[in-house]
Amino acid sequence: MLQQFNPANKDLLVYIDGKLLHRDEAKVSVFDSSVQGGDAVWEGIRVYNGRVFSLEEHLDRLFDSAHAMLFRGVPTREAVRQAIFETLRANHMTDGVHLRLTLTRGVKITSGMDPRLNQAGCSLIVLAEHKPPVYPESITLITSSVRRNSPMSIDSKIHHNNLINNILAKIEANNAGADAGLMLDKDGYVAEANGVNVFAIHDGTVYTPHADFCLPGITRKTVLRLCRENGIPAVEKRMSVTEFYVADEVFTTGTMGELTRVRAIDQREIVNRAESSVLGKVQELFRKETESAGVPF
Ligand code: PMP
Repeated sequence: MLQQFNPANKDLLVYIDGKLLHRDEAKVSVFDSSVQGGDAVWEGIRVYNGRVFSLEEHLDRLFDSAHAMLFRGVPTREAVRQAIFETLRANHMTDGVHLRLTLTRGVKITSGMDPRLNQAGCSLIVLAEHKPPVYPESITLITSSVRRNSPMSIDSKIHHNNLINNILAKIEANNAGADAGLMLDKDGYVAEANGVNVFAIHDGTVYTPHADFCLPGITRKTVLRLCRENGIPAVEKRMSVTEFYVADEVFTTGTMGELTRVRAIDQREIVNRAESSVLGKVQELFRKETESAGVPF
């Protein structure tokens, strides 16, 4: 599973601090905090049929992350919303679009770690690409030796750009020929995969780890809500890898790939002993949600 260059994205217009620039001209300063220290926060957002899906939830998480990192000179929520809409309109985009929204601490007066060197306020980048869900119908995982960050080091609840923790797990997965790395918490319980949350289904009940050592994903939250609204039991609990190996069905959730079946973990095939697929039902509920929910622009 490796994304390829999409020629439809050849002449993208990218929003940076109020300007829309051709992708070849869209650049940040060498003094920008994201270059200097990965000091930025971000969101991945999807557009379905003229609507920005879960926009308010993504804006909540973006602003919460910026607040937790004590950003100064943060643009208003309305300014971010308008920047997104302006970018989509300028690129004539309505469907099958993935948006990467990045808010950096901004440009520094000189290189250095100290946030007091940031005196110009934050920088906002809106990168919208033609990109349907990136995962194939099913994927494989390997358990990574890299532990997911805990609140003792970097709280995984902050959606920051310091992605090395996850990138190292992804490298391990690549080297093992798997699609993603399953990351454990400091005690050896499952946290999430390197870029997606994980779920296991046992006897008709949908389980997912507590959002203690993982990003509290917006797709994860939507899936839990859809299950509860539709009479499918859904439980958050501490889970070991073995509980995933022996599950009837395992799947991942995330904006990039939506809901994706996992067919094997560490070469243990996931075998459904039940007669029907609960995942199939949840995928259908999610698909219906994407057909009507979201903010029109
Ligand atoms: N976990 C990690 C580490 C992620 O980076 C992401 C996506 N940014 C997710 C989970 C999925 O979150 P969401 O459903 O909000 O896209």
